[in-house]
Amino acid sequence: MTEKSFSNSDDIFFRIRENYKRISENIDGAMDKAGRKDRVRLMAVTKTVPFENVNYAVSLGIDLLGENRVQEFLGKYEFYDSKSQIHFIGGLQSNKVKYIIDKVSMIHSVDSVKLADEINKRAALCGKITDILIEVNVGGEKSKGGVAPDQIDEFSCYCKELSNIRLRGFMAIPPIDINGSNNKYFEQMERIYNDCRSKSGKNIDTLSMGMSNDYQQALRYGSNIVRIGSALFGRRK
Ligand SMILES: *Cc1c(COP(=O)(O)O)cnc(C)c1O
Repeated sequence: MTEKSFSNSDDIFFRIRENYKRISENIDGAMDKAGRKDRVRLMAVTKTVPFENVNYAVSLGIDLLGENRVQEFLGKYEFYDSKSQIHFIGGLQSNKVKYIIDKVSMIHSVDSVKLADEINKRAALCGKITDILIEVNVGGEKSKGGVAPDQIDEFSCYCKELSNIRLRGFMAIPPIDINGSNNKYFEQMERIYNDCRSKSGKNIDTLSMGMSNDYQQALRYGSNIVRIGSALFGRRK
């Protein structure tokens, strides 16, 4: 065998540790460059990642996990070290809300009245208030979930009336960047977030945007949760 094998978990852990170090430095650098002193959270996105690797990332100090797929999440959940918070970030059918409502502290992907109603109902049954973000389809892409920008005011007013959900802000997956051509989408999200903050005050404190390929860009536009999968855990199979 001449090729180095990475099936050994020590090698994988080593790479996760190096990746984490690099990402943390990049985040600090981007925050400095943007002149920001507020707090940003690094979320580890766990889709397709074995629970051992997730737990290793948590042992390094990552305190926030992002889950996309209900089935996969339920299969791994009981093996997670319970030191980190868990947010649900993937497309969510309302009939699946009941399986995750007691396991996650925030849902980033709320984009319909039906889903908001169901989260509100299930949260009430658990005796809790669930934090939510409205997902915004900022690029107007057919392939993506999210509320159209011109519907946000109406939808956020609706959400604020529901007593067992608490609107904390917005999540977006801006279109892929081609030479900085998507800066305008990040800018638009920052404007939407700041508008909502100035109108409705203290609960609005979360702007979730930026993934492996664009988190440093997102930090220039006020993002305070970056959701990182492949740059941390390696490319998904
Ligand atoms: C997969 C995923 C991420 C992370 O993507 P990477 O490019 O691997 O960092 C972030 N947010 C959502 C909603 C995702 O589905």
